[in-house]
Amino acid sequence: MKYDVVVVGGRVAGSIAAYHAAENGLRVLMLEGNPEIGTPVQCAGGVSDSFFKSTGIKPLPEFTCTRINAAAINGPHGARITTRNPIISGYIIERKIFDKYLALRAAEAGADVSAGSRVKDLIFHDGSVSGVKFRGPDGTHEVESDIVIAADGIQSGVGRMAGLDTRFRPGELCSCAQYEVAGLDVDDETMEFYFGSTFAPSGYLWIFPKGDGRANVGVGVRRTRCSDNGPLHYLNSFISRAGCSRLEFNAGAVPVAGPIGRTCTDGLLVVGDAAGQVDPLTGGGIHIAAECAMIAADVATDAIESQRTDSGFLSNYESTWRDRIGKNLDRSLKFRKVLDSLSDDELDALIRSFDGKDLNSISKISLLKVLRYYPRILKMLKNML
Ligand SMILES: Cc1cc2nc3c(=O)[nH]c(=O)nc-3n(C[C@H](O)[C@H](O)[C@H](O)COP(=O)(O)OP(=O)(O)OC[C@H]3O[C@@H](n4cnc5c(N)ncnc54)[C@H](O)[C@@H]3O)c2cc1C
Repeated sequence: MKYDVVVVGGRVAGSIAAYHAAENGLRVLMLEGNPEIGTPVQCAGGVSDSFFKSTGIKPLPEFTCTRINAAAINGPHGARITTRNPIISGYIIERKIFDKYLALRAAEAGADVSAGSRVKDLIFHDGSVSGVKFRGPDGTHEVESDIVIAADGIQSGVGRMAGLDTRFRPGELCSCAQYEVAGLDVDDETMEFYFGSTFAPSGYLWIFPKGDGRANVGVGVRRTRCSDNGPLHYLNSFISRAGCSRLEFNAGAVPVAGPIGRTCTDGLLVVGDAAGQVDPLTGGGIHIAAECAMIAADVATDAIESQRTDSGFLSNYESTWRDRIGKNLDRSLKFRKVLDSLSDDELDALIRSFDGKDLNSISKISLLKVLRYYPRILKMLKNML
């Protein structure tokens, strides 16, 4: 059987790429290695309104838990600010249901979807990727395709099989652990973030409310920067004080050092976490993966129509996504490096200095006024403000 496009990985990046490629009229096969699409969950489910706007997906009650209108930032020694900036507005979604919804949407657009089907190798013709070998519930298969889209998450094996350097080093990953809890006293409209060495050194702790006292509570830390303790140590210490029930535990990692060097080669495109397309400051990847998946589907369509699946043509994908979001990712990486370098006292003082200010309308000048008390931070941010 021959397809125009084989998509490897059936979560956000994979399903959105498969949907758009199928909508463009291509014959698409999407393969997901896990037996069930959407599990195990490796996400807190925070998604902004801009995701729904740019993808055209409706925030349906089936997968949205709560409407979010505010974020609270908590410092290590009790400093706290809240913001209701519209860019924060969005939803906490139930990823298990959402991921399945996205896969179903791709199938309804005409893509063939196969869960429990793990890609083991690539097929090459004249040095160009031209299909996959995979093992599914019904045995092993070889499928030819003009283009393969690798949406297979961190440490993308498929990208590496094609000769791309998709490996993230330990210091480039944020290790995360998360409980879904019940019985927590939280405001259903507000996402809570906790910073500082007691909560999450070189990362943060989050509480994303899911309604009726349920919430995703998680910690992300960079293992290379927090001695022997991993995220679970910090998470357990917080949860034991909060005294709530644990409904689910999950763990995962997010690439937070910016994108990989090259995201395409002859016959293959890499999208989503596999390409490091994640905001290095927040660790948020859903919206970025979706944006890049839509670009990948459109470039794949043009390439197939022009019969040009070589890396020269496919580099349109690389240049388009870098033009659209590359600068924002660079900026976030710089901010994250500044945050990394702050002591607990500096972090707390900085958060405290914003107390009572309207963060929605904070201007560059008012930010500079606040930062004049922190010449070290000001120096680090000099080129960004
Ligand atoms: C704890 C945690 C919390 C997070 N919270 C948020 C959040 O609140 N908001 C946000 O925007 N982002 C969040 N993120 C990041 C976000 O989850 C990811 O950026 C996003 O899900 C990436 O989607 P993806 O499709 O690129 O990759 P993935 O979700 O990793 O999907 C890759 C898929 O490929 C499959 N696969 C791998 N290899 C193969 C193979 N050989 N054959 C077939 N299938 C294969 C895997 O089974 C997997 O299903 C969080 C991440 C973590 C770890």
